[in-house]
Order: sequence, then structure tokens, then C-alpha cells
Amino acid sequence: HRSQSVDELFSLDTLLDTEEKEIRDTVRKLGNERIRPHLADWFEEGTVPARELAKELGALGLLGMHLEGYGCAGTSATAYGLACLELEAMDSGIRSLVSVQGSLAMFALWKYGSEEQKQQWLPGMAEGSLIGCFGLTEADFGSNPGGMRTRAKKDGTDWVLNGSKMWITNGPIADVAIVWAQTDDKVRGFVVPTDTPGFSANTVKKKLSLRASITGELVLEDVRLPAEAMLPEARGLSGPLGCLTEARFGIIFGAMGAARDCIESAVEYSKTREVFDKPLGAYQLTQAKLANMALELGKGQLLALHLGRLKDKGELRGEQVSAGKLNNVREAIKIARECRTILGANGITLEYPVLRHANNLESVLTYEGTSEVHQLVIGQALTGSSAFR
Ligand code: FAD
Repeated sequence: HRSQSVDELFSLDTLLDTEEKEIRDTVRKLGNERIRPHLADWFEEGTVPARELAKELGALGLLGMHLEGYGCAGTSATAYGLACLELEAMDSGIRSLVSVQGSLAMFALWKYGSEEQKQQWLPGMAEGSLIGCFGLTEADFGSNPGGMRTRAKKDGTDWVLNGSKMWITNGPIADVAIVWAQTDDKVRGFVVPTDTPGFSANTVKKKLSLRASITGELVLEDVRLPAEAMLPEARGLSGPLGCLTEARFGIIFGAMGAARDCIESAVEYSKTREVFDKPLGAYQLTQAKLANMALELGKGQLLALHLGRLKDKGELRGEQVSAGKLNNVREAIKIARECRTILGANGITLEYPVLRHANNLESVLTYEGTSEVHQLVIGQALTGSSAFR
């Protein structure tokens, strides 16, 4: 019997148009040829050549790809999701690079920025010659960013920023940081060129997850910015939360990419590994595991596509994004761990992608809203009662 992929099992291709399939195939090719061969080394070394990668990803139109104008590709949201799926099939760190650049930093400028801010930053960020980061989380305020201590005070017409941000993807290498700070008039966003005096960044070391990604702390000590550095159209937490909804949308697809890569690896392994004189994949226990995982991967991709189509119609709601993120990341991490069992001892090494994906997905489960926060969002939608505090 010929063995088929989960995509074939669910005939997922019939749900995509030609352009979407082309984008998917282009990103998959880039991954196989240029990125996949290096992933184990980057993960082991705990770094990634983000600057060079950003230029390659930018050349393919993947940075800010669903935004219109300013050098961005302007694709559908579904096409952007499919690109995220292929990127995360490589490594969650590569998808994070694209999510933070496009959906967090560029989206903040695109949605809330002045015309001058957009002209100054977006074209360079779209081509990958400028790297952006997004500073919302602080060491003591993650799920509850409203408690943030970073403050922006007026001094004449200038703003002076003090505080620190933690866990900021690409913080140590960024050219520009979107920093959210308390002001006398709610939380506001600031466009901070990282060569501004008083701005510095430290790299977070000893991570066991998302190692092929650069994570840092931003420190702001009397960072003086002109009045025009504030994002004029974002006032209050709805600004940064709007950006997070964008990035979460990409994760709904992305997590399924990591899961697919694990299942492909486990299926391949099960066909060649012999135990007790027979291929592992010919045993019922192995097939039961593979069948159950295939169902979750297929259902998760169907959910992602459904939410993508809603987003393209402008009808996607926040609690639906929470449902997609919670389900798909939770199932992806279960799949990655189950695949690891199929690979036995080999599964714990970087020769195979499964434990790398499982470890990465620990971060994905926590960032962009933890699983518990998404349960609370869905619980609130179902009951009408907020249980956040
Ligand atoms: P906490 O908020 O302290 O949560 C701890 C636990 O408490 C969790 O289980 C949580 O679900 C639970 N909890 C919280 N509130 C409630 C409640 N009301 N009821 C029940 N349980 C609750 N942030 C950025 O701003 N920019 C970035 O680029 C960025 N990149 C990141 C990259 C990585 C690798 C990681 C790991 C994180 C990144 N983050 C970034 C931060 C991320 O968004 C936060 O870690 C996340 O919001 C959770 O915050 P916390 O870690 O402070 O956990």
C-alpha cells in the first residue's frame, strides 16, 4: 500500500486556491533548501543568524506579508497563515522571527502609526534590512500587562521613557523597538530607535525552548524621544492587544506545521525501524498513535483554514482566535511528545526534529496569551462572566 500524508487523508489541497498553494510551496522549498539543514546546529548553539534570514524572508515577501502598501506583499490572511505553518514546520523560532517582525512590530506601525512613521520604517522592515521588536511584557507583568511599570513622562514636547521589558524576541538585535508604556493618558506605544541614548538590551541565556531565536531584556534609562515618536492611533491596552491577536492568528496555523513535521518524522521512522523482527509501523499500537495524531492534525488544520477564511471576510472575533490558539498549540505539543515516544532514544536527539519541536512548543503555549488565559477568554464568551481576577 502507498502511504499518504495527513494533508492527503483530509484532501486539504481542495480547500486552497492556486496562489495559496504557490506561497505554501515556495516557503516549504526555502525551508528545505536554506533553513532545515542548519536548524539542529542553531538550536544547539542557542542562536540564529536573524539578520541574514530576515533578508531572505523579506525577499520572498514574508515580512508583513498580509499588510497593504509600504513595500508589503498584501496577501490574504489565509495565505499568511499557510506561510506561518510552513515556517513553523521548520522551527517555532523561525516562525517567531516572522511573527514578531510582521504581526507585532510592523502591524503596530501600520495600524497605529503616523504616515511619517510608516514611511520611515515599514519599507525597510518589509525587505528585512531593518529588524523590529515588540516590548510589552515585563518581568513582573506578563498575562496582566496593564500592571506595567515602564513609564513615559512628558518633558516639554519630548517624552522620557524609564523601565524595562522582558522576554522580548529579537530585542538584542533590533533596529527599532515598539515599546508600550504608561502615561498620564493610558498606555501608549512608542517607536524607539535602538541607538537612542539610554536604550540597551541583554540577551536571555540558558533557554531550553525556542533556542533558534534571540530573546532579550530591554532597559530604558531616561530614553528621550521627540513628540512624534508616539504611535498616535493607539490609546490604552487595546493597542498592544490588537497586535497580539494578529500574531496569535499566525500561531493557529504555525503550531500545526510543527505537529506535521513531527508526524512526518515519526511515520518515516516507523517504516524503517524494526522491532521484534517487524517494522514498528506495522504494529497496531504504533498505528493507533499515528491515527489519533493524524485526526488532531487534520482537524486543527481545518480549524485554522476556517478561521483564516473568517479573517479574510473581516469577521474573525478575538475569542475565536483564542479557541484556535489554545486548541492547536495544545494538540501540537501532545503530538510532538507522542512522536518522540515512537522514535525511542533517537527521539531525544537533534538528529530528529521531534523533541526540538516539543521544547519549542512550551514557549508557544505560554507566549501570545497562555493556555489558561485563552481558557478564561473562552469561558467568558460562554458564560458572560469574567474570571480573570
Ligand atoms: P504569568 O503571567 O506570570 O503566568 C504564570 C502562570 O499563571 C501561567 O500558567 C498563567 O496562565 C497563569 N495565570 C496568569 N493569570 C491568570 C489568571 N487570571 N487566572 C489563572 N491563571 C493565571 N513578550 C513580549 O512583549 N514581546 C515578545 O517578543 C515576547 N517574546 C517571548 C518569547 C519567548 C520565548 C517567551 C517565553 C515569552 C515571550 N514574551 C514576549 C512574553 C510572553 O508573552 C509572556 O511570557 C506571557 O504573556 C506570560 O507571562 P508570564 O511569563 O509573566 O507568566
